[in-house]
Amino acid sequence: MPLIPLLPIFHRFNRQYFDGLLVKNSKPIVSVRWSDGRLRNTAGLYRHGRKSDGQKVCEIVLSSPILENLPQSALESTLCHEMIHAWIDLVLKVSEGHGQNFYARMKLINSLQNQFQVNIRHQFPVPVKMPKWLGICPSCGCRTPYKRRVSGVACKKCCDVFHGGRWHSSCVLTFEPLSNISNY
Ligand SMILES: [Zn+2]
Ligand SMILES: [Zn+2]
Repeated sequence: MPLIPLLPIFHRFNRQYFDGLLVKNSKPIVSVRWSDGRLRNTAGLYRHGRKSDGQKVCEIVLSSPILENLPQSALESTLCHEMIHAWIDLVLKVSEGHGQNFYARMKLINSLQNQFQVNIRHQFPVPVKMPKWLGICPSCGCRTPYKRRVSGVACKKCCDVFHGGRWHSSCVLTFEPLSNISNY
């Protein structure tokens, strides 16, 4: 399913729930975009500040991996949630997370329509990241799935049995990509 454009929804919500205050001279005062495939731990976020390279950012980012396969109401509720954060920060100019202003606006929006509900937390299933690597013990040959390579981890069993529980270089796991191994 192609990702649907966010700006039309942003403009509609801005008129309906934020008195048009998130747009100035017909330009959004916060940018809105889909994430790349990497934003997997939250359905959406609002950030305002500077990136590590010093560049200014003020944006709402919605997670494409989490939201792309969910109904549009999930997208709408996430976008609206992040727009409340932007409105508190940029319009009210108050520093709060999910505080008084957030609750009040969330309740108002939820009472105005039945298409979606804004929640304090995004309650959408986060896709489980599958292990991509196998750590193989050169001593006993046991295999453990890992999401990423970890340098220097040793087989606990072999360290316990042969080295009195101390880390030993002869038990340091070697990593092989899972795609090269048919079953584990
Ligand atoms: Zn939030
Ligand atoms: Zn071992």
